Order: sequence, then C-alpha cells, then structure tokens
Amino acid sequence: MYKVAIVGSGPAGHTAAVYAARANLQPVMVEGLVRGGVAGGQLMITTDVENYPGFPDGIKGPELMDLFKRQSQRFGTEIISSDVEKVDLSSRPFKLWTSEEQELTAESLIIATGASARWLGLPNEEALQNRGVSACATCDGYFFRDQHVAVVGGGDTAMEEANYLAGLCSRVTVIHRRDALRASKIMAQRALDNPKIDFVWDSVVTDVKDVSAGKVTAVEVENRKTGKRQDLAVEGLFIAIGHQPNTDIFKGQLELDGNGYIVTQPGSTRTSIEGVFAAGDVQDHVYRQAVTAAGTGCMAAIEAERWLAGM
Ligand code: NDP
Repeated sequence: MYKVAIVGSGPAGHTAAVYAARANLQPVMVEGLVRGGVAGGQLMITTDVENYPGFPDGIKGPELMDLFKRQSQRFGTEIISSDVEKVDLSSRPFKLWTSEEQELTAESLIIATGASARWLGLPNEEALQNRGVSACATCDGYFFRDQHVAVVGGGDTAMEEANYLAGLCSRVTVIHRRDALRASKIMAQRALDNPKIDFVWDSVVTDVKDVSAGKVTAVEVENRKTGKRQDLAVEGLFIAIGHQPNTDIFKGQLELDGNGYIVTQPGSTRTSIEGVFAAGDVQDHVYRQAVTAAGTGCMAAIEAERWLAGM
C-alpha cells in the first residue's frame, strides 16, 4: 500500500510528486496516457513556453515536462505508465485500477488529471496547432503582437481572451455562432466597448488556412443564417469554446461543480473526501497556467503530508 498516489503527470502531478517524495512519502504516480498515448498533460502539445519562471530563453513544452519527470524520479517517485480506469473512494485505503488491470491502494490521493481544451474538430485546425492555432491567449498571445487574430466563442473565456489579446494585437475579431453572447454582462460589455475588438455574429469557422504555408493566414467563416462563406485574413486563431476537466472516473464519488471541475475548499486542495486532494486544471477553470498548476501541486503534497501525519 502506498502512502500517496498521484494521478496525472502534468506540472501539478509532478510538483506534487517532488514534494511528496522529498517528504519521504514514496509516492506512486499513474502518469496517464490520454492524448494519443502521451503522458505529461497539455504542455506536451505546446511548443514554446515563455512564461514558466526560470527559463529566460523559453523552453519547449515536452522538454519542460521531461525535466519535471526527471526531478520526480530523482527523489524516488515510482511512475506507472498507464491510465487510471476506475477508483473506489468510498473507504480507506483508496483503491485505483489501471488500464493494465493493476490494483493500487493508497492512504491518500492527489488528483492532477487536468483539463483538455475543446477544439472545433477541423482537420486543418489540428495541423496548424502551435502554428497560429491556440487555445490559450495568455500562453501564446505574445507571439501575435501587432497582428490581427480571431477568437472563437461567446463565453467568459472568449471575452477574457479577446480583451487580453486586444492589449497586444492590432485587431481582434470574435467569431460567435449566435447573435448573443453567453458571457457575463460585465465581461461581454468590456469586449463590446473595446475599439480593437469587432464581432462576426451567427458564424462558424469552417476551415483554417494555410497548411501548405505552415502558418495561419486566414479562416473560412460561414454565416449560419445565409450560408455564405468568406475568408477572413488573420495571423492567429484562438479557440475559446470551453474546457473539459478530466473527471469522468470521479463522477458520483467526489463533489464536482456544474462544469465537472473538482470542488476544493477555498485556499486549499482539499476535496469533499478526507485524504483526497486535487491540484492543477482539474480544479481550476480560472488561471489554467502551468505555474499555478505546479503551485497547487505543491500545496496538495504538503496538505497530504500533514493529513497523513495526523491520521
Ligand atoms: P462556456 O461553455 O461558458 O462558453 C463556451 C462558448 O463557446 C459558448 O459561447 C458556446 O456557444 C461556444 N461554443 C461551444 N462549442 C462551440 C463550437 N463547437 N463551435 C463554436 N462555438 C462553440 O465556456 P467558457 O470556457 O467560456 O467558460 C466556462 C466557465 O468558466 C463558465 O462558467 C464561465 O463563466 C467561467 N469563466 C469565468 C471567468 C471569469 O469570471 N473571469 C473567465 C473564464 C471562464 P453558445 O453560447 O452558442 O453555446
């Protein structure tokens, strides 16, 4: 039986592992093989990371995750390359089953399974990811300084991204599939009032160009009312149509919010079950940054250690 099991291997999971291992808790990490068989979370599909402190020249996402993993292993974290398929949190020790049908038991659990950005599902959107197509303005907006970019979506995330990008880019065009925004009044009004932001209503993106040039040069936009299609020349495309927290295996066992994120107690990583802690994007729909995920991973390990000491 393990003292601490960690599920997930992004910045939150690995930071929790480093702290737990250095506290002599001999953690086990099930690193997860979601995203086409690659562990390491969202940074594995990110090229340049320029906002992770300590890397003044930037670093590639997969390289950063390799460093995280080496640091976890250096202090003795046992890493299992598998997905967790099922958990039983109804009694302690907690039980986890991996996709290789291995059963693990642990006194405490740190959930760091992250969230996945929703994409439109267009073939060229995937081909141009990291070449102008992004799901994170805070991460990638800087690459589009003084350029024209498009944002897809009508929720709070889309408005926040549009406002953020308007501070960097020459022009931001929001493309929304209806004629009314879903975003909260205040966020919507801020975007509507921003002279650098314009809106294309009742419209969907049907294609991203230009794969042969290896970068985004335009998006094809279809008006859903008239059926008319036209190209809009842009250098960047930000998809902001929501995120999906990876919490399916915890449904019905842990308290989740209306959007499926794990509910943690304010200022802590404690969940609705004693001994279960959640860190990173799986419990954070606001900041969603590698560095904030790492910060909450550290918190989760410290909280698990203190909880185990008081058992
Ligand atoms: P939402 O689900 O609120 O909004 C998603 C938007 O994307 C909607 O406008 C939706 O259109 C559109 N959309 C969904 N799928 C598609 C698609 N396939 N093609 C085109 N458009 C699509 O997600 P958010 O990420 O914006 O917000 C999630 C939660 O986080 C919300 O509760 C939000 O309030 C909160 N949040 C709060 C913030 C803050 O307060 N600072 C910042 C960011 C998020 P439609 O409207 O037609 O359904």
